[in-house]
Amino acid sequence: MSKPVVAIVGRPNVGKSTLFNVLAGERISIVQDTPGVTRDRIYAEVSWLDYNFTLIDTGGIEPDSGDIILSQMREQAQIAIDTADVIIFITDVRQGLVDADQKVADMLRRSKKPIILAVNKVDDFKKYMPDVYEFYNLGIGDPVPVSAASRLGIGDLLDEVAKHFTQEMLEEAEDDRPRIAIVGKPNVGKSSLINKLTGENRVIVSDIAGTTRDAIDTDIKYNGREYVFIDTAGLRRKNKIKEELERYSIIRAVTAVERADVVIIVIDATEGVTEQDAKIAGIAHERGKGIIIAVNKWDAIEKDDKTIYKHTEKIRQILSFMPYAEILFISAKTGQRTGRIFETIDVVLENNSMRVATGVLNEIMAEAVAMQQPPTDKGKRLKLYYITQAAVKPPTFVIFVNDKNLMHFSYTRYLENKIREAFGFKGTSLKFIIRERK
Ligand code: GDP
Ligand code: GDP
Repeated sequence: MSKPVVAIVGRPNVGKSTLFNVLAGERISIVQDTPGVTRDRIYAEVSWLDYNFTLIDTGGIEPDSGDIILSQMREQAQIAIDTADVIIFITDVRQGLVDADQKVADMLRRSKKPIILAVNKVDDFKKYMPDVYEFYNLGIGDPVPVSAASRLGIGDLLDEVAKHFTQEMLEEAEDDRPRIAIVGKPNVGKSSLINKLTGENRVIVSDIAGTTRDAIDTDIKYNGREYVFIDTAGLRRKNKIKEELERYSIIRAVTAVERADVVIIVIDATEGVTEQDAKIAGIAHERGKGIIIAVNKWDAIEKDDKTIYKHTEKIRQILSFMPYAEILFISAKTGQRTGRIFETIDVVLENNSMRVATGVLNEIMAEAVAMQQPPTDKGKRLKLYYITQAAVKPPTFVIFVNDKNLMHFSYTRYLENKIREAFGFKGTSLKFIIRERK
């Protein structure tokens, strides 16, 4: 299922980070062995009442000279327009309405995206409400007074945001064609790969009229099956600042991954896995998507009989949090092994939504426990009562135990390996939820 994407845009110091942190709360997931992904808070998963959405903070480097601020804000606003379903435009009641706000508001209004205008730092409603009305002048609707720092008005703000979660955003959930995101840093060959795949197969022109989302989707029919490719290369920013460019490509990756069933992480064989590749891979891993690592430009590598083995080892070592990922060595230029991509996608899709019967799971667990005793702590031994699969995409298992604290990460990993020995589950992560049963 895909979740709506909400972006925060605003001038420096209006309180974007504060609001982001309040909304993200403790729900920000920290997966210890996923490098760099959650440490810089570019995005977070937010749950509010019945709503779940992905929140992105478009703010990057924020220079303080006037002209640059405006161009930076335009850049941020464009990223938000390109990627988000709903945009929160945040302003500051204490600084009042400034020229840059007006210009960015014009730009946002023209995008026709739903915009929620938040007026921040309204710590005292009586005192500041008269100043809030000024923001009607932006022409983007009713200002919502909030105080991010004192957590006032946050519920009202989220209600306004959620009003715009339309059927259209949830529509994709009903579309059962597999969605494949092609992600990776600039210049690894994403566009070339899409071109290769579309060149050799039938491209279906989408008949759903042009939202930004559709514009970057390519439908390809292969062997009678339709696949929707989400191309993150399609939209490109010409930004000279390296960090900003990286942030942009991460935001693009997050939103594409969110919508995808299978993620193809494209890596440049001539460079190996870089830090940014690892970050993008981490995002796909955290989301529990099907994963294929496509090592591209394989034609440009000098090879002997050990080259594939060496590259595989290196990738497995750096991306050690996803040992399950499928790896393909391809060349978008020559078409070497690009045909294998579709069959690999099919395998990964199947594994990502595979269900295992409870009886069989419990047999595997009983056998695993018999072979390797569960850990003890201070004389108390972990007891595993029962295992069942609660969900797919990714396959999610609930294990009932006597004491959660006794369930070490390494024992969960051991059980995961036993399940994988029996069923493979190649290309998909598995999730484990440990519950206590008294
Ligand atoms: P950003 O640059 O837009 O991300 O802004 P920050 O979140 O870093 O906030 C800028 C400053 O405004 C910080 O000193 C915050 O403590 C302060 N701030 C943020 N929200 C509020 C608020 O609701 N009330 C007040 N009084 N200050 C706030
Ligand atoms: P993107 O930014 O990830 O979409 O990358 P592009 O598809 O634009 O490719 C970046 C550069 O790498 C271009 O000059 C391509 O011609 C080149 N390139 C892409 N795929 C291959 C490949 O398989 N082999 C070689 N040798 N070059 C490639």
